[in-house]
Amino acid sequence: MIRNFPFAITPYYFCLMKDSDIEDPIRLQCVPDPREIAFSLGGVDDPLAEDRDMPLPGLIHRYADRCLAMVTHTCTMYCRHCNRKRFWKEGAAAKSRLSAMIDYVAATPGIREVIVSGGDPLTLPETVLEGFLGALRSIPHVEVLRIGSRIPVVLPMRITPSLVRMLRKHRPLWFNTQFNSPRELTPEAALACQRLVDAGIPVSNQSVLLRGVNDTYETMRELLYGLQRISVRPYYLFSCDPVRGADHFRVDLWKGMELMERISRSTSGLCVPLFVLDVPGGKGKMPLQTFSLLTDSFLA
Ligand code: SF4
Repeated sequence: MIRNFPFAITPYYFCLMKDSDIEDPIRLQCVPDPREIAFSLGGVDDPLAEDRDMPLPGLIHRYADRCLAMVTHTCTMYCRHCNRKRFWKEGAAAKSRLSAMIDYVAATPGIREVIVSGGDPLTLPETVLEGFLGALRSIPHVEVLRIGSRIPVVLPMRITPSLVRMLRKHRPLWFNTQFNSPRELTPEAALACQRLVDAGIPVSNQSVLLRGVNDTYETMRELLYGLQRISVRPYYLFSCDPVRGADHFRVDLWKGMELMERISRSTSGLCVPLFVLDVPGGKGKMPLQTFSLLTDSFLA
């Protein structure tokens, strides 16, 4: 199984696991499961058709005003539900590839925002990441940088004062992370997020709705309240993509919409993320909450 989909878990995240419970939400996210290679399950390697919108290796340019740079395919932990599992065996991008990305952005004046992602960009040596961010920042038409990283969740001690000092030089810089379970909201994770926020780097959360992890009202509400307590804005809740090897995590769309409907009606708006389906085939994000509310009010 791990020949198909490798695994890595940080000691910190491993310690959050309750070892007696095979349905533990922490365990589900990090320990390989035989269902990942079950024949009968659906899913494709590239559910969002990202490969189609890559003008050069590792750079996704789908929307005119922004692009996403996969600066590495390495992660400190391989989340079993990841929609980029197809890259896990490829490792870090060569420096020449990073230079080609910078050249492309510099030659494309319509790009005002660059999302630095992966893999996990915070697995890069700090000097390499700093060089990449600095090169992007020196391009006049790049107004905003964004980092996508799960490090605050799986290895929060990596958010050191020195890393934060480096990152703050490249503001406006936004930081997106992915807490999926309230059990991930530890004092260490809170400190990591607080360091970023204190440095003027807003932190937002993009959860994935995962069966057995956060698909009940009580758990989702606890997660959203907890995020607000640590100054992290719930931004998106994604329906789990139909990626090969993650079918067992997928939650029925109607169930997800009902769940978020209940959350919206009982929870402060600041806590409520936008529930979206990233439409397979690269057709973009479709909000699901609004449709649910409309349907409900028309039928009432
Ligand atoms: S950290 Fe992100 S890219 Fe890496 S395995 Fe987890 S979800 Fe995928």
